[in-house]
Amino acid sequence: MNDMQSIFNLQIADLQIDDLQEKLDSIKEKLSSDGDLEMIKNRLDKIKSLIEQKELQKRTTERTISDLQDKIKELQALLYGGVITNEKELQALEEQKVFLSGEVSSQEDELLEVMIEIDQDVSSKDKHVLATEKLTAIKSDESVRFAQQQDEFSADLKQIKSERDALIALIPADILALYEKLKKNKGGHAVSKLEGRICGVCRVELPVKEFQDARAGLRLVQCNSCRRIIYVS
Ligand SMILES: [Zn+2]
Repeated sequence: MNDMQSIFNLQIADLQIDDLQEKLDSIKEKLSSDGDLEMIKNRLDKIKSLIEQKELQKRTTERTISDLQDKIKELQALLYGGVITNEKELQALEEQKVFLSGEVSSQEDELLEVMIEIDQDVSSKDKHVLATEKLTAIKSDESVRFAQQQDEFSADLKQIKSERDALIALIPADILALYEKLKKNKGGHAVSKLEGRICGVCRVELPVKEFQDARAGLRLVQCNSCRRIIYVS
């Protein structure tokens, strides 16, 4: 294998390493993020505590209504029991009864309102429970799949890195240094494959002399325009 072939293979290995590293980083990120699960769980907790509060409010209102109804029954017993005959007293009792009935009616309105709200909250809670279960299942499936991919990509990466090490051992230090410098400055593409006499990356034609030298593998030739190392297959 001549130096240019080695350096071209090195570029392929480096691009594969970058690609695999990117894939592994992305998997790591996906595994550490929980999507919307945490947010939905938080909302579910809030809805649950809201329902608890409203259930308490409902029970309190029901007790108030029951107490008021007991008082109305007592008043009715006094009004129609025949014990009290004084007209003024009876009128006062009647007024009290009317007032308490009004109170019952307004408490019943409140009760109805809180019951409707509880219904709505329960339906929202059910939706959130469903979404949580769904997301948890998806996440668990994904975790298995991502873990498998992680294993595959890591094994590939290890393999390519060892191939890279073997290639580096073949390449003279000065050529390797030039490659590394160009790789840094040229977005990972330090080597350009010649297409005819044209640089495969910048599309500028190579002068005849350079072309002949490159093809013969006599020396390292760089593109006159983009300075990449020329590789002739
Ligand atoms: Zn070029």
